[in-house]
Amino acid sequence: MIKPEAVAAGHVGKIIDMILANGFRIHAMRYTRLSHHEAGTFYAVHKERPFYGELVDYMASGPIFAAILEKDNAVEDFRKLIGATDPAQAEEGTIRKRFAESKAKNAVHGSDSDANAAIEGAYFFSTRECY
Ligand code: GDP
Repeated sequence: MIKPEAVAAGHVGKIIDMILANGFRIHAMRYTRLSHHEAGTFYAVHKERPFYGELVDYMASGPIFAAILEKDNAVEDFRKLIGATDPAQAEEGTIRKRFAESKAKNAVHGSDSDANAAIEGAYFFSTRECY
């Protein structure tokens, strides 16, 4: 997912360029928007964390760009490409170093496992939107 502040700042094309340049294939992609309830469900794993309310408000604050990406070792390689959660800690050349505003508004989301990638992908896309 490209998060609301990065979409609003017009970074979608540049972020997709970086993703493609790093060997990922786009299986599905589109703009969409999470309602407050949907953002809360998507991030339910963080329910007990102090920033949960802020995170949900932020993720529902504007359009996002969702994509399913394919690559060998995709989860690990994508997390390397996006960089650390806090852009101040992210390495040079990562998406978050280049585009994130802050630890909260950090430009992109990446799935943390193949199992969650399948769940999150199915949340946004039907089979006829995947190629
Ligand atoms: P990620 O896997 O690198 O995205 O990081 P986490 O799973 O730990 O956190 C999920 C998301 O919650 C992050 O990408 C941030 O958008 C947000 N987040 C993490 N830490 C903080 C924080 O301290 N404050 C706020 N407001 N948001 C945070």
